Amino acid sequence: MALVMGLLCLQGCKQKASQSESVATEQSENETEQLIYHYPLGSTEVVLLSDGQNTGDPSVLVGASEEIIKEFVPTGKAGGAFNIFLLKLNGKNILVDSGMGFHLVENLAKEGISPEQVDMVLLTHMHGDHIGGLMKDGQRVFPNAELYISKKEVAYWTDKKIQASLPEGQQRGFAGAQAVVEAYKDKLHLFEPQQAEKMEELIPGVKSIASYGHTPGHTCYLVENGGSKLFIWGDLINFPTVQVPHPEIPTRHDINPVKAAESRAQVLNWLESQGLTMAGMHVPYPGMGNLTRTQRGLELELLK
Ligand SMILES: [Zn+2]
Repeated sequence: MALVMGLLCLQGCKQKASQSESVATEQSENETEQLIYHYPLGSTEVVLLSDGQNTGDPSVLVGASEEIIKEFVPTGKAGGAFNIFLLKLNGKNILVDSGMGFHLVENLAKEGISPEQVDMVLLTHMHGDHIGGLMKDGQRVFPNAELYISKKEVAYWTDKKIQASLPEGQQRGFAGAQAVVEAYKDKLHLFEPQQAEKMEELIPGVKSIASYGHTPGHTCYLVENGGSKLFIWGDLINFPTVQVPHPEIPTRHDINPVKAAESRAQVLNWLESQGLTMAGMHVPYPGMGNLTRTQRGLELELLK
C-alpha cells in the first residue's frame, strides 16, 4: 500500500511529507463510511462506491482571499470524499478510478461483483488516491481488467528524470504509478483525450475529455446511456465549494496550477452550457450534483 501512496490530491490533506500519516488518520476516522449510491442512467446505472468521507480544509487552496474563504467556507471546513464510480454499461463492469483501496473490493462485493468480474478501469489520473485500489501486496487486484490511461499521464509518471528531480516524498507517487503500469502492462490502453467540443468515444458509451493541469494528462469522462448523461470530472475540481464559483483558485495538489485553472474554467463553462449532472472524486456523498447559477456565481448543488 505504501508504494502506491504518494501525491494525494484530496481536499485539505496535510503537506506531502506527512501523507501516509494523514491517510492513516482519515482511514480510521472513516472506517464506517462505506457509502453506496445508485444513479440511474438510461436503461442502466452508475454506482458511487465511496472509499470514505473526509473534511476539507481550505488551507489546501492557493491564493484564496480571506473574503472568499469567509463567504464560501464560513465554518472553516467543507465536506470531501474519496469516490470511485462503477459504470454498468453494455454488460460490462467499468470502474472510473480505484480510490485508496480502503473499501473497494468489499463495496464491489455488495454489488455482487468479484475482482475478476471488473472488465475495465478508466483512470482520470495517477495520483495515489486514485490508483491505490488497483494493487495489493504488489499484485494487481483486477486480473481481467483492461486499464485505460491518457498517454500524457503515463509519460509523466514514468519519466525517471522528473522523478529524480523531486523531493523524496513526491518520488513515492512516481514509484506507485510505475508499479501499476508494470502490473497491468498487458492490459494497458493509452489514449489521447480531446477538448469537450471535439471529444470522441473511448469505449462504447464513454467519451474522454482533456483537462490537463491538476496532472499533465488529467482526463474527464462523459458517460451516456439511453439519452442520459453523467460527466465525471475526477480531480478537475478538488474543493467544489470554492473552485466552482472561483475556478481560478488552484490547490497545492495541482502540478501545473495555471493550466489547471484554465481547464477548470473551460470545462465548467462548457458543463453549464450543456446542463449536465456531474460526479467528482472528492465531492461529498452522494458524490454528484448539478451546477446552478446563484447571486454568488456558479455553485454545485449536490443530488439529494
Ligand atoms: Zn484526488
